[in-house]
Amino acid sequence: MGLTVLAVHAHPDDEVMATGGALRLLADQGVRTVLVTCTDGRYGDAPGGIKPGEAGHDPDAVAALRARELDAAAAALGIARLVRLGYQDSGMMGWDHNDEPGAFWSTRVDEAADRLGAILREEAPQVVVTYNEIGFYGHPDHIQAHRATRAALAALAAPPTLYYNALPRSAAERWREQEAGDPDAAAREGEDGFDPVALAVPDEEIAVAIDVRGVLAAKRAAMAAHASQLADTPWLALADDAFAAAMGQEWFVRAGNPLGLTGVSSDLLVGYR
Ligand SMILES: [Zn+2]
Repeated sequence: MGLTVLAVHAHPDDEVMATGGALRLLADQGVRTVLVTCTDGRYGDAPGGIKPGEAGHDPDAVAALRARELDAAAAALGIARLVRLGYQDSGMMGWDHNDEPGAFWSTRVDEAADRLGAILREEAPQVVVTYNEIGFYGHPDHIQAHRATRAALAALAAPPTLYYNALPRSAAERWREQEAGDPDAAAREGEDGFDPVALAVPDEEIAVAIDVRGVLAAKRAAMAAHASQLADTPWLALADDAFAAAMGQEWFVRAGNPLGLTGVSSDLLVGYR
């Protein structure tokens, strides 16, 4: 039987930073990779950093642009099959958009889980990757992606191994230290309240740590493809060595373990090869 890894992500662009290198490596190994993107990303920035609700932000146009960006990113990552569930982006926690009809956050978990379940039965992946119960950082669509994935997996007779992307505490502390010397970074943190250390897990909880430095050109190309969201971030301006230091590792905790795996691996398909 062929090997398949399926990743469930909330928005176009979420597939790249935490899982893009791993997906590219798997594709290079001949593994079938399936990306399920739950929402249309309509409440992300419009090009030029224009926020939803500001003049020049047309949610339909943003969704259409992000659909094209996702196609290009998926191609760069060697994704074999891209599935868009097509829910409306819910915006950040507390926004009125959370409750709009069609918003992923206002969709019943079992409805989304049924659709995801159909894809899971069709693809029969050995491994599924998504976010933890706080959606890694608290975005409602990420939380909903987690809930729908868990519900879909619970209905399967033979569950795959499940991983959540994660940040080990040591890496988060290194990152915060680097940013402490960078006033721009401090300002950015003040803007979005993002503290990597608060989101990190103890290093000993990491089950899979993948060195993706060999496929960083593809990862960078996939990030660049999401220009509307990532062109203005500092990542893409980094020189190759700094980019490798920031993006060269991807980490996962094991959240569903039907094979009873133990120890740390560098392979999401450990136990299946
Ligand atoms: Zn997202």
